[in-house]
Amino acid sequence: MDLTHLEALKQRLDNTPPNALRDDLWAHLCCEQAYLAIKAGNYGVGAVLVNEEDELVCVARNQVFLQDAAELSEPRSGYQSQRHAEMELLDRLETEFAHLDRRELTLYVSLEPCLMCSGRILLSGIGRVRYLTADKAGGFISHLHGLPPAWKNLASGVEVEEALIQGYWRNFAHDCVEQSAAQMREKVVQAWKGESEKG
Ligand SMILES: [Zn+2]
Repeated sequence: MDLTHLEALKQRLDNTPPNALRDDLWAHLCCEQAYLAIKAGNYGVGAVLVNEEDELVCVARNQVFLQDAAELSEPRSGYQSQRHAEMELLDRLETEFAHLDRRELTLYVSLEPCLMCSGRILLSGIGRVRYLTADKAGGFISHLHGLPPAWKNLASGVEVEEALIQGYWRNFAHDCVEQSAAQMREKVVQAWKGESEKG
């Protein structure tokens, strides 16, 4: 994403409307994470985990490209296909917050979860998912009908809905992905070929 777009997103984050709807607060945090992901050269998707008292548990963001993980000690490929925001969030849940009852948790994410993340969410035991903006092209979690029986059974335990938020946040979440989509696809194809993104 070019700097103008990034700066525009920053300005929008600095001039947010007051919270008015149920999920606005969490939408704000998701969008902050999405912004940080973009800033680090990743897909603009952010996620937050909230407990039954409506308190923050943890946050995460897309990190498929490793600019955001410069602290890594061992050399790895520059692309890690699994590091979507939801996957990072569930990694944190299962390592740092393993004592929490999953059924009481709500996962907020700026973009409707993909096929991979929908599967992981079902396996994680999370009770509720609320996404800021639907993903008509790649979203999977609104298409859980027609799954094989064991998955259908898992899906019956999860409540999935669009977040109750102002249009401001829905647009922001949408723009975070939309504006960088083409560029990100290029980076992924390059990684598939085994090329680094240098040059
Ligand atoms: Zn995903």
